[in-house]
Amino acid sequence: MKILVLNCGSSSVKYQLFDMAGETVLARGLVERIGISGSVLTHRPAGKDKLVREAEIPDHKVAIRLCLEALTDSHYGVIKDYNELGAVGHRIVHGGTFPHSVLVDASTKKAIGELEALAPLHNGPALRGIEACEAILPHTPQVTVFDTAFHQGMPDYAYTYSLPYELCQKYLIRRYGAHGTSHQYVALRAAALVGRPLAELKMITCHLGNGSSITAIKNAKSYDTSMGFTPLAGLTMGTRCGDIDPAIVTFLMEKEGYTPADMDRLMNRQSGVLGVSGVSSDFRDIEAAMAAGNERARLAWDIFVHTAKKYIGAYVAVLNGLDVLVFTAGLGENSPEAREAICRDMDYLGIKIDPEENRVRGQEKEITAPGARVRTFVIPTNEELMIARETMALVQAG
Ligand code: ADP
Repeated sequence: MKILVLNCGSSSVKYQLFDMAGETVLARGLVERIGISGSVLTHRPAGKDKLVREAEIPDHKVAIRLCLEALTDSHYGVIKDYNELGAVGHRIVHGGTFPHSVLVDASTKKAIGELEALAPLHNGPALRGIEACEAILPHTPQVTVFDTAFHQGMPDYAYTYSLPYELCQKYLIRRYGAHGTSHQYVALRAAALVGRPLAELKMITCHLGNGSSITAIKNAKSYDTSMGFTPLAGLTMGTRCGDIDPAIVTFLMEKEGYTPADMDRLMNRQSGVLGVSGVSSDFRDIEAAMAAGNERARLAWDIFVHTAKKYIGAYVAVLNGLDVLVFTAGLGENSPEAREAICRDMDYLGIKIDPEENRVRGQEKEITAPGARVRTFVIPTNEELMIARETMALVQAG
């Protein structure tokens, strides 16, 4: 079966076409600058030249039509016609309380639309992507795969905030988490590498990128995760503040006269390692500035490492032990320095990594030091493949 995976952002559409027979990628691509000037499609078919096509792309429907035209193009294409598509899998950032992926029907779309208030930048575009596919591919099944679904396994005491209960019910305020598809993918992969069922393993997965989250996994379910009601909570990130004392919000609003929108911008775009260092949101720049002696870059790095260590320690405590630790995403996969700093002095928890094995960048590798009780892995994430698998499973189940 051939499955198209779509990831619709506010001004972009990313796509990958999989042949599920061997789980190979037939083509991948990106439409950028939807609805603004300079719209462009970049299409990369496997084993062929890439196609770059500039065009007027006012909305997601036109963007998806262009992707499909590229996929069926006589020269750059990888399929003959749309009938070859077995299904389309859509990445949905906020799935509310959906506990698993679902086939798209009217009620799914209504629910995604209602959740737009919780993820305005993401759920609206995803919904437009679904509607575009329904119009262009009326006979192709569509599946929605939610970033939040894996975390629906959390117990109530992990997802409930200690705020007035009725208010939380009224506004659907709870911990939802994020990066669930990534955490689940690397967890399943780590279990396969260890050669034991995921359900038997206590695991902590660290998705460290521009946005970072850490998840505790028990009984093959998310048991707790660092992101919360929104992806602002938890670790210090590229530009997001992560956990802060909530009283700082009202304090700053009062002192500086900030509006809710100002606070939102400050915490989401001007904080994190960018806000502390004043250098950059990119950890490569932070590492370089630190090496050059920049004190604030060093401070930003140390805060990041310290918060990551605290989450790992807390999760070992609530899991009552740990079998497997996984690093993934941009920083987790590519920065031996970050992994080394986070795992340093964790012998007490049974975590110790091998400096030689830890040199790896962007490749799957076990980096456990000889004799360490916890097995530590670097596993490149593959959210698109996970979406394709989920999509195929649902379509085959009817
Ligand atoms: P996003 O959250 O945007 O999906 P990614 O998972 O792609 O982010 O991670 C991007 C981040 O990963 C970059 O901002 C950078 O900080 C970090 N990163 C990528 N490659 C390296 C590297 N070689 N060394 C250090 N950090 C890296």
